[in-house]
Amino acid sequence: MAFKKKKTTEEEMQELQGAAEAVEPAEKKNPEDLTMEDLPGIGPKGAQKLKEAGYSELISVAAASPGEISAACGISTATAEKIIQSARSMLDMGFKTAADLQERRKEVGKITTGSKSLDALLGGGIETQAITEAFGQFGSGKSQIGFQAAVNVQLPKGEGGLNGRCIFIDTESTFRPERITQLAEAKGLDPKKILKNIFIAKAYNSDHQIVLAEKAKELIKEHNVKLIVVDSLMSHFRSDYSGRGELAPRQQKLNRHMHALQKLADTYNVAIYVTNQAMARPDMMFGDPTTHVGGNIVAHASTFRLYLRKSKANTRIARLIDSPNLPEGEAVFTLTEKGISD
Ligand code: ADP
Ligand code: MG
Repeated sequence: MAFKKKKTTEEEMQELQGAAEAVEPAEKKNPEDLTMEDLPGIGPKGAQKLKEAGYSELISVAAASPGEISAACGISTATAEKIIQSARSMLDMGFKTAADLQERRKEVGKITTGSKSLDALLGGGIETQAITEAFGQFGSGKSQIGFQAAVNVQLPKGEGGLNGRCIFIDTESTFRPERITQLAEAKGLDPKKILKNIFIAKAYNSDHQIVLAEKAKELIKEHNVKLIVVDSLMSHFRSDYSGRGELAPRQQKLNRHMHALQKLADTYNVAIYVTNQAMARPDMMFGDPTTHVGGNIVAHASTFRLYLRKSKANTRIARLIDSPNLPEGEAVFTLTEKGISD
């Protein structure tokens, strides 16, 4: 039996990289956009090998032990160790100081809702780097806030906007361009321009909704999107997972969806506004007889939670339920043909 010389780490790395693969100078990428192919010395061939072995993302490589990678890819533990170290250094896995975080927080933008009192309740408006959830019964104004924000985000920075565009994920087919036109005209804006800056995606089911949110990345980067509206968050999840015993898988998918939204908010400094139906709770004798759908997953994932209810004529009451830095409180606003106002 011929003696087979043990390969060196360098030889193994070269092999993983594929033949004649020129090492291109790594262009500066956003850490969020780094993929397995970007691992130094790995190349498409090595990335493929890792993926086949079940390591689909950099983070899974970073979290693996050299023994696991070595066994899965048929390479030495020394080479595996090198790959893991590269994955770890590429991913920002360290701690940030509170000062760094404060720097990032300085970039937070706020979109006016059109009502000063509602803005004040939210600490200045609908924030970027956060998920704002509005829940309430039918007709309470959840979608109207979304429409208004889709218009207002386009305003200049000094006027309550972020000079940005909007992605609107419509799951209930209630988006109406006519209503946007009305809101734009009320502000003296050109409706055609305003409509062009709102990307609508109709989600046909919960999986489609998840994919739409995860694909939004490209659109956000290329078109300066500053607001994503999901109206409504739960309707598909409710109908797709309505059977008994389906709650656990539903919550799992929902969790993934909420995380993807939060990641977009953090990475691209966009505001996320989601609506959520509230169901009447006839069994509740005391307190508020409505409860919101989605349970703890949505409650925990939302940074700000507004509970909306109808009041006299065209007034609505918003209550801030949950916020990391603002007191609970209420705001009264008006819903008219012209949109949201005090
Ligand atoms: P939901 O909370 O179910 O999403 P909406 O946000 O769509 O409800 O709010 C519906 C309410 O908005 C209507 O009941 C009405 O009071 C108001 N509204 C919607 N469009 C107009 C309009 N063009 N003019 C005046 N009020 C409107
Ligand atoms: Mg609605």
